[in-house]
Amino acid sequence: MEKLLEIKNLSKSFGDHLVLNNITTDINKGDVLCLVGPSGGGKSTFLRSLNLLEIPTGGSIFFDGVEITNPKTNIDEVRKKIGMVFQHFNLFPHLTILENMTLSPINVLKLSKSEAEEKAKVLLTRVGLIEKAKLPAGSLTLLDRKRLEIARALGTRPKLLLLDEVAAGLTEVEVQQVMELVAALKKEKLTIIWIEHILDTMMYATDRLMCMSEGRNVILGNPAEVIQSDIVQELYLGTDDTK
Ligand code: ADP
Ligand code: MG
Repeated sequence: MEKLLEIKNLSKSFGDHLVLNNITTDINKGDVLCLVGPSGGGKSTFLRSLNLLEIPTGGSIFFDGVEITNPKTNIDEVRKKIGMVFQHFNLFPHLTILENMTLSPINVLKLSKSEAEEKAKVLLTRVGLIEKAKLPAGSLTLLDRKRLEIARALGTRPKLLLLDEVAAGLTEVEVQQVMELVAALKKEKLTIIWIEHILDTMMYATDRLMCMSEGRNVILGNPAEVIQSDIVQELYLGTDDTK
């Protein structure tokens, strides 16, 4: 299996608060890794470290053979290959779906309007939003806004997609629809890391499950085995109110 990410002894502190504590793991090309664990355990910080939105205070990260933690690496080039959907929305509610998709391609990448729209329509078709392209983003359901953010993150044709709690706040049926989208993207050979803080709903389409707590990667493996492990059962015991 070819590795897309190699993470070696990754640490991150904010002041004297150690948030990531010596994490070492690899992620293979085409794998879907689901990251779970209690709130405040360092999941978002871990994800943001992977494209250097947080600068690690220790260790190294290799992406597709390139050490991104080497200050000589051009991180802007690397970031084009990593799409990310954040926990909080990053959309322009008064603009249409299509306009949200084309804004940065036109203004930053300097594509022509027609070229940008053509590309956007392909992406919107992929996530199942093409019929709503003319609606304002602010009128969309939570699920459709997540779809739009995923479509936008796919715009640079990334090799890696990072999803931070995209299923949060969705109904069970909607969570299922997000899973189906992730499964479809996996079929297209995209490597995906996604965070959920609950355990039971996200196994669909997941190859490996990693549980993080207090900045440590406490367990990593096959989803069914990780869920059954004593350490995860203990971490989640009595936390049913988060569901
Ligand atoms: P999770 O996503 O698992 O809920 P986070 O990675 O968001 O956890 O947070 C882990 C810890 O790091 C928390 O204690 C949080 O307060 C702290 N933290 C996250 N970002 C910052 C920051 N920019 N400055 C200081 N502390 C932070
Ligand atoms: Mg988080």
